[in-house]
Amino acid sequence: MPGGDGYRDLKKMVGELGLHTVCQSAGCPNIGECWNNRALTVMILGDICTRSCRFCDVKTGRPLPVDEGEPKRVASMLASLSLSHTVITSVDRDDLADGGAEIWAETLHACHLAAPDMTIEVLVGDFKGAVKDIDTVIDARPDVFGHNLETVPRLSKQVRVQARYDRSFAVLERGRQRGMLTKTGLMLGLGETEAELHEVIGQLAKLGLSILTLGQYLSPTRSHLPVERYVHPDEFAALKTFALGLGIRHVESGPLVRSSYHAEGQSELVARLLAESRPS
Ligand code: SF4
Repeated sequence: MPGGDGYRDLKKMVGELGLHTVCQSAGCPNIGECWNNRALTVMILGDICTRSCRFCDVKTGRPLPVDEGEPKRVASMLASLSLSHTVITSVDRDDLADGGAEIWAETLHACHLAAPDMTIEVLVGDFKGAVKDIDTVIDARPDVFGHNLETVPRLSKQVRVQARYDRSFAVLERGRQRGMLTKTGLMLGLGETEAELHEVIGQLAKLGLSILTLGQYLSPTRSHLPVERYVHPDEFAALKTFALGLGIRHVESGPLVRSSYHAEGQSELVARLLAESRPS
């Protein structure tokens, strides 16, 4: 069970502001460690997702109307924590014409104003492939543009029922076309093979992906997909070596790695990657 002063303070603050975090909504196993380090991943656009991915414990259903005050409350909370780096994600809002892109942009603008030195990583959905909505988020200047592939192409339909691997890959491609530092994550232990992982990592390296996370899938409840296999830490280490060898610049790989794990210490990494990515 999570505990500690940092954890309790953050829990109170999030609750009082009526905000949501993926840490709580997805039942992340790292919440005690992360929150005691004042690292959390805010989840915007409410806490009810219009999709029903079979690995994810976030509530599914008909979302509440958009909360227009959410961007400012998110910005004020993150500013009060004096973070150097943060990760913001959202539920999928297929019920909105723009998939929530405008609220994403407002949230980023409010955060830039409230905490100008904080670097911001976004972990977005696929916006059903709508380039104009993806661009709305990118135009609001996140420092890292993240979208998770979650699994290999063969398992994608089974794991992310309403999503498509090629559409997700195109989201990352758009990020690269727009010159963003891009990031994605894969869960291991869903039945993927090493050859399939090598192929996906190869495609990501070719794309110029900057940051890759690899973590063990854990089944949140019995109604979610079962864990096919617990992957040995040596295999995580070997995949990290493989990905770095292909040129992906930063790889977090291990059983408890999540896309936002240890993100609080990443402002220097982001600054370094941004500097390296600028033409000399
Ligand atoms: S790993 Fe990410 S989702 Fe999990 S508790 Fe840490 S910040 Fe939250």
